[in-house]
Amino acid sequence: MKRILGIDLGTTNSLIALFDESVPHVILDPQTGDPLLPSAVFFSADGSIHIGAKARGLGAASHGVLLTSVKRFMGRGMEDVTDDDRRAYPFPDDTQGIVRFRVGHRDYTPPEVSAFILKELKKRAEAYLHENVSSVVITVPAYFNDSQRQATRDAGRLAGLDVMRLLNEPTAASLAYGLEKKASGHIAVYDLGGGTFDISILRLKGGVFEVLATNGDTRLGGDDIDNRLAHYFLKNLSVDLLPDREIWNSARASAEAVKIGLSREESAEFVLSLPHRSIEYRQELTRKEFESLIKDIIERTVAPCRQALKDAGLKSEDIDDVVLVGGSTRIPLVRAIAQEMFSRPPHTELNPEEVVALGAAVEAGILSGDSQDMIL
Ligand code: ADP
Ligand code: MG
Repeated sequence: MKRILGIDLGTTNSLIALFDESVPHVILDPQTGDPLLPSAVFFSADGSIHIGAKARGLGAASHGVLLTSVKRFMGRGMEDVTDDDRRAYPFPDDTQGIVRFRVGHRDYTPPEVSAFILKELKKRAEAYLHENVSSVVITVPAYFNDSQRQATRDAGRLAGLDVMRLLNEPTAASLAYGLEKKASGHIAVYDLGGGTFDISILRLKGGVFEVLATNGDTRLGGDDIDNRLAHYFLKNLSVDLLPDREIWNSARASAEAVKIGLSREESAEFVLSLPHRSIEYRQELTRKEFESLIKDIIERTVAPCRQALKDAGLKSEDIDDVVLVGGSTRIPLVRAIAQEMFSRPPHTELNPEEVVALGAAVEAGILSGDSQDMIL
């Protein structure tokens, strides 16, 4: 029996998961134990290439090119690139053709960059299983068009993988929760990640999921919350520090830590400590203060949800299950807003950062014949 693995190739983080003994589980980084691989590739000035957390760390500290959120450009053309994108990414001057990133004297396409991430996941799985890994299921957003899907397949091929199937992310999340076992129903999958918000309305009938509507905002996610918090804390420091990359990066990292802390605790401390810059700043933030600072950002998810329901021809009462996906749905205020929107408590039992990868592994298990009790 051929083994097939499930991959969530995410904008911010990617994961690889396995269906084993009838349960899906994420394969951890053997060194750090982290289930997530940051979707980051760093091309250092000396020609070496680094992936994941290492890439992020080096990108902040040394010379070279750090590429993140490359998924945004999968299957896109240069004509889709905005001025904001041009400030953030090293594009060649072309205004036509497929998107490419300039690294030294060479250009890389989004599938080529994504292939580095996929290869790293493949390596992680091979180290865990002590065998060759080649067959995979990769998830994609439900709204991905043909060229975005083709770009994802290309990334897999370039990484030496055999992509058995592309699976819609909201379908994967529903599979992870075992919702296909129900006779029928309507499912809302609310996915707030690092940089994107997606809402999908699915219909389940006879074990088959159908995407009725999708909506969202490709520029809305945890990054906006981190930026908002970093601005808020830096405002309390006297000097104009925003154009300073070192201070901004530290403030952003510390803001993210405060945000993550506040998903569990009632208060958290922001610490900006840069002794060589004579900066030592601390400030306590309560969850209540945090919520009032970020409420408008989270409320931007409401209009796309309404529109998706409308496009699906449904009312919020017609939704039987609400599934939360994405790290940002750990924020209690996000859960509250999703619950209010669909008038029912969402599923939160599974880790929202892992749920898509787990569902990809379930699908992989079905494809490889590992799971008898499931049909799709
Ligand atoms: P993507 O689907 O874009 O790859 P993820 O689902 O991995 O993204 O979500 C990443 C985002 O989740 C980041 O902005 C991160 O800061 C945020 N995040 C992770 N854990 C938490 C938490 N406990 N509370 C709030 N936000 C979190
Ligand atoms: Mg995601």
